[in-house]
Amino acid sequence: MILYGWRGKLLRVDLSERAVSTEEIDQRLLSAFYGGRGLNMFFLYQHLEAETSPFDPENTLIFGSGPLVGTSVPANGRYNVSSRSPLTGILGDANSAGIWAPSLRWAGYDGILVKGEADTPVYLSITEEGSELLDAAEIWGKTVTETDLILRQRHGKDAHILAIGPAGENRVRYASIMNDLDRAAGRTGNGAVMGAKRLKAIVIRARGKIPVADPDGLKEVCKKIRKAMLSSPSYPIRSQFGTPMLTMLYNEMGVLPTFNNQAAIFSEAEKISGERLKEEFVIRQASCYRCPVHCSRISRIDKGEFKGLEFEGPEFESICSLGSRLGHSNFEAILYLCKRLNDLGMDTISTGGTIAYAMECWQRGLLTEKDTEGLNLTWGNTGSIIQLVEKIAFRRGFGDMLAEGVQRASEKIPGSERYALHVKGMEIPTQEVRGLKAWGLGWAVSSRGADHCRAFPVMETTWHKDQAKEFFGTEKAADRFAYEGKAEMIKWAEDFGAVIDALGLCTISYVAMGLSPKLVAEAYRAVTGEDTDEEKLLETGDRIVTLERLLNLKLGLIPQQDTLPRRFIEEPVPEGPSAGEVIDIDKLVSQYYGVRDWDKLTGRPSKEKLATLGLSSLLAL
Ligand code: SF4
Repeated sequence: MILYGWRGKLLRVDLSERAVSTEEIDQRLLSAFYGGRGLNMFFLYQHLEAETSPFDPENTLIFGSGPLVGTSVPANGRYNVSSRSPLTGILGDANSAGIWAPSLRWAGYDGILVKGEADTPVYLSITEEGSELLDAAEIWGKTVTETDLILRQRHGKDAHILAIGPAGENRVRYASIMNDLDRAAGRTGNGAVMGAKRLKAIVIRARGKIPVADPDGLKEVCKKIRKAMLSSPSYPIRSQFGTPMLTMLYNEMGVLPTFNNQAAIFSEAEKISGERLKEEFVIRQASCYRCPVHCSRISRIDKGEFKGLEFEGPEFESICSLGSRLGHSNFEAILYLCKRLNDLGMDTISTGGTIAYAMECWQRGLLTEKDTEGLNLTWGNTGSIIQLVEKIAFRRGFGDMLAEGVQRASEKIPGSERYALHVKGMEIPTQEVRGLKAWGLGWAVSSRGADHCRAFPVMETTWHKDQAKEFFGTEKAADRFAYEGKAEMIKWAEDFGAVIDALGLCTISYVAMGLSPKLVAEAYRAVTGEDTDEEKLLETGDRIVTLERLLNLKLGLIPQQDTLPRRFIEEPVPEGPSAGEVIDIDKLVSQYYGVRDWDKLTGRPSKEKLATLGLSSLLAL
């Protein structure tokens, strides 16, 4: 039978045995979970045992891409990498764009499943002709840029490289996995899992084509999708400034995390604004694979201490994490730090969150120069931030404790727990959720800990109230301070987002830019030949999110972890347009459990729900 869209093959890698093999993927699983994040969850659920620790050789590391990746569908090119997270102990999962994932699919695979642990460092080489594990002695210890350069020299300029940096090798619990140089699967510490397995890189060289079921239909739907993206109200600003436009917008709304979320307005926000970035540092806009939005950018510094630095980025999350959260406005240094963290292979959000925690400990006298080997952790101290990043990546001295993340560090510094801002062990991203209630709920219930991408509920601030009423039952869903309609909004956005990840598309260009799931269903039909519609598509998203819940419960999650740091619940925002706001997260989570049909005491999906989604039978396959 000809398979359209999917390649139908999983590459199995056993590092302990140094063996590589190919396995067929059951068509029923492809139809039920699509691929990428969806299929990763099925395999993780099958392979992970409750007692398997993140650095255990038996921890399973899966790279999965979706059936639309490598085709002509706009803004495809993404993969998810999943394992048991060394940061949170539950699901570890991150997503990244670039050409690496299309290359994997052109090579003939929908995913790679890695088990075991090599006795010496290795890397995996994949081509259409075959795959092999090769010695990585020469690249172990190298940065991501150095690794990329060496492997391209060895395998050809058209090779696409995914790699970890020194942080992953040193098992920093929030180490990222990088691909195509500056693209990060940043969150939850999968880079440390790769490091523990002594797998330094995966190189792919392939040019194969993806067969599609209806080429003419695909051309038509691609035209419609491009048109919808280019006519989205947010297109002009996204294509000019990308996510860094959020710095000034959030500051004006009073939701810009500042001084470890002690404030929500940063007096020096203009110095780290998207406008300044564009004017002084961006040399051109850039784009992901086949995306007409081109919200990415290449930045360069032409003078001063960091002269000559050039890289793709930065995004708002990194600017805020290394900027206002640290009371830090040296933009050149922030750009340097973004690139350095990419090279070290360390998540910018968790790194910024961890340093912000340490700076608040310093502010409150819980840390002194005796603890920090002489580093002065006053807010905004550029030199100390740069030195601390190196200490963390190489686990030197004081950095060793911070390499464990804020939750574990706070167990070592008495009285500091309140300043360790995390959900389920993962450092928070960069929204002030007391003034953005849907985002707060999204963080609290996200399957991978504090996270802004699982739901991405921009509808709360960008949708008209009539649209909010139609979709979520109340106009108040479009009021960022209100509680009504937020549970419905998060469920809808999580389900749509899960489908987007499973297909290998981009959350910004589809979910955040307001594209209809109907268009996605059309693209899916044209590529795979499988019949679907909006309802079935969103049901698949529900299936994926529900399976993530089952996986997390299996790994020991308890419902009490679906919450937020006490700061957001108990301390009102001190000033600005969100002044006086706290968030009643228990109320929101209770509403969400109701909408999801999860038991309010155990957090477990009901039997009826599992049966409706077909999960009871699928998990028995
Ligand atoms: S909209 Fe998405 S796919 Fe397009 S350039 Fe931006 S991040 Fe990449």
